[in-house]
Amino acid sequence: MEPTGLTPMHSRGPETLELRERVLDYARYRMDLNPAPLDLASTPEQLLEAAGQTITEHGLGGLKALETFTEILAPACLSVDHPGYLSFIPCAPTEASSLFDLVVSASSIYGGSWLEGSGAVFAENQVLAWLAAEVGLPETAGGVFVQGGTLGNLSALVAARYRAQELLRESGQNQPARWRLICSAEAHSSLKAAARVMDIELVPVPVDSEGRMRGNATREILDQVEENSVFAIVATAGTTNFGTVDRLDEVGQVAQQRGIWFHIDGAYGLAGILSESARHLFAGAELADSFIVDPHKWLYAPFDACALVYREPSWGKAAHTQHGEYLDPLTDADDWNPSDYAMNLTRRPRGLPLWFSLASHGVAAYRAAVEQNIAVAKAIAEEIQSRPNFELMRNPDLSIVAFRRLGWGPNDYQDWSDRMLLTGTAFAVPSSHGGETMMRFAIINPLTTIAELTNLLDEMEA
Ligand SMILES: *Cc1c(COP(=O)(O)O)cnc(C)c1O
Repeated sequence: MEPTGLTPMHSRGPETLELRERVLDYARYRMDLNPAPLDLASTPEQLLEAAGQTITEHGLGGLKALETFTEILAPACLSVDHPGYLSFIPCAPTEASSLFDLVVSASSIYGGSWLEGSGAVFAENQVLAWLAAEVGLPETAGGVFVQGGTLGNLSALVAARYRAQELLRESGQNQPARWRLICSAEAHSSLKAAARVMDIELVPVPVDSEGRMRGNATREILDQVEENSVFAIVATAGTTNFGTVDRLDEVGQVAQQRGIWFHIDGAYGLAGILSESARHLFAGAELADSFIVDPHKWLYAPFDACALVYREPSWGKAAHTQHGEYLDPLTDADDWNPSDYAMNLTRRPRGLPLWFSLASHGVAAYRAAVEQNIAVAKAIAEEIQSRPNFELMRNPDLSIVAFRRLGWGPNDYQDWSDRMLLTGTAFAVPSSHGGETMMRFAIINPLTTIAELTNLLDEMEA
């Protein structure tokens, strides 16, 4: 049979146009909620009973499917932008960045190559260049926005190992029996995941009394392992549990002295470099061979995006470029293709929501927002210290505050946390350190107030 015309899915008939209005109305409605309800997870059984089987041979119709989402599915998803969302690392997108995410979705841009997405890639690259300049890398630095910090760390480490392999090969030396990566004992779980995927050994460095990875401890570990087997040293600029910034200057210098790739995992905390008051903690960041920072964490962009930047992008490119006959038109050209710089090929230009918001508001607005989050964190840390029922675990470097409620065991923390979520007050789940349960407020939402956090402390004392 001769294929004829458009299927109803691609036509722009009255039904699709109405659906378009309804979808945009919903987006408008959701953005007007201030704040959106925190909401709650449902069980699969509850959701099946409410939503039924949504995938059918002939479809529910757009309006019915939309209603299923707005009435049943959306309320079963926590609102990560709620000011009481304090767990893990929240996400508090600016109005401009959320709006522009809609535009990116409506624009069908392929962000993997210059040929196909030059305008978008140009804008993303300006953002990456700005980040590189804040960190202190040379103008020749560059990279790509990948899905998240996990993929960013993995991609940087793959490039680091590639360089180590190449340098040994060029100088006629043997490859080590097993490659190693050195990072802090408090580094993020994604580094362990990367080590498993890469089939390498992760060697943890003990931290000092403030929880920081230091130069001497790093040197000691280096001296204990086979020479030339360490291809990267990773420092964390803002740990996930405490927001602690490792001594980037010391660790970076050790890496430099030994000729080892220095990677900074700043998925959450590197954005703190924008603040005048915290900037000194990041001294030494300029020594990085690569770094990551997640716009979906403390740069107020929607899920999901990680900025991955290399000092010498050519290593990223050599390690990651995919080759195939169908790709020759791209790989044979001399263009900057974002796909070449990470473990990815097809990609959405996910740096654009941040670009639009930054271009709209300017960098100063970001500095002020980060500074405000830090000020709230410091204020609530002081409040915790002033109350006899509480104990601060560490003085916060950035905007994560970890503390004990004296006299509480794991169940007390969990019961309290469940109650706060059930009442729609806050989403603050317990964490732990060294086997001890603790509470942790991760503050990256400028709408999170000191009064609200103080109220949570009151609730923990009630
Ligand atoms: C969140 C985080 C990661 C992982 O980032 P994802 O975007 O969740 O994949 C890595 N390192 C640190 C320090 C983090 O806080």
